[in-house]
Amino acid sequence: MKSATANRRMTLLVMRDAQHSVKQIHLSKPLMLAVPAAAVLSLSGLVLAMQAHSSQVITQLEQKVNLENMKNLQLQGSVNSREQSIERLQNEIIKLSSQAKDMQLKMEHVDELEQQLQQFIDKHSTSMSTDDSAVKASSLSWDASEHVGGEFIAVHENEMLDLAQETKDDFQEMQELLKAMESQVPHTLKKAQETQTQISGNPTLWPTSSQVLTSSFGYRTDPFTGKAAFHAGIDIAGENGGPVYAAGAGKVVTADESGARGRYIIIEHPNGLQTWYMHLSKIQVDVGESVDKGEQIALLGSTGRSTGPHLHFQVVKNDKPMNPLPYIRPEKSELN
Ligand SMILES: [Zn+2]
Repeated sequence: MKSATANRRMTLLVMRDAQHSVKQIHLSKPLMLAVPAAAVLSLSGLVLAMQAHSSQVITQLEQKVNLENMKNLQLQGSVNSREQSIERLQNEIIKLSSQAKDMQLKMEHVDELEQQLQQFIDKHSTSMSTDDSAVKASSLSWDASEHVGGEFIAVHENEMLDLAQETKDDFQEMQELLKAMESQVPHTLKKAQETQTQISGNPTLWPTSSQVLTSSFGYRTDPFTGKAAFHAGIDIAGENGGPVYAAGAGKVVTADESGARGRYIIIEHPNGLQTWYMHLSKIQVDVGESVDKGEQIALLGSTGRSTGPHLHFQVVKNDKPMNPLPYIRPEKSELN
């Protein structure tokens, strides 16, 4: 501290502890002043830097939070749309299930009708000579309950929707088809029944075992008075007590007895036709009874205005007696 040079210099004594020697650091005066100034400057710089860094971190955090919020919103949106999709699918499935049930009932109904038709055709196939195989081939039947399987392949949601829509369309088509069938099948059945009634109801069967004709239809000499008279039917000779058959299927409308006709039966057939059976020894049907073609209805006899055992057989169309011979055939081949 004695010279000018020494005045411009400062000495720092650094003492650490008792074991270490004292260190002397000589510094120029300006430098001595610059050090704290630099320290102050660097500290404030540090503070500023820290502030800057903090604000940057905060901004980043804010951005992160915003991003998370956005992600959450997007996620919520996708959850919502997924829920809507599931709801749509569920609705489609519910609709399909209800349609399927409805369809099942309709198909059962059609199947029942078809079975009726099948039974009807089977029952009468001998007389109608129906091609059985052709009819049976059209039988509706399915069984989806067994023998199914295969690889599981996951489908996309849209595919599911498409599939549901497609199935719905298929169901709709099938429903329309079934609707048409449902109205068509009973019509066909009714038509077939009518045809069958016409066929079996037509009086074409010879009504006795005997085929000996003793008096024909038309004008003849009356066997009792010897005078010309109109004979409204034909007389077929036969044994007393022999079987009398219905010439066609129909309904017994009269089963009675009178002085002239003796015991007699009138059967009503389709197309305004009736068959009359007279001079019977015994009536074997009741009024109101339906009889089949060839069914035994009475025993041949000679009751009423009769000269011997015979059947007076008469065909009446719309209350007018007709010649029976164009109607009935003198053989019983139809019974077999
Ligand atoms: Zn007669």
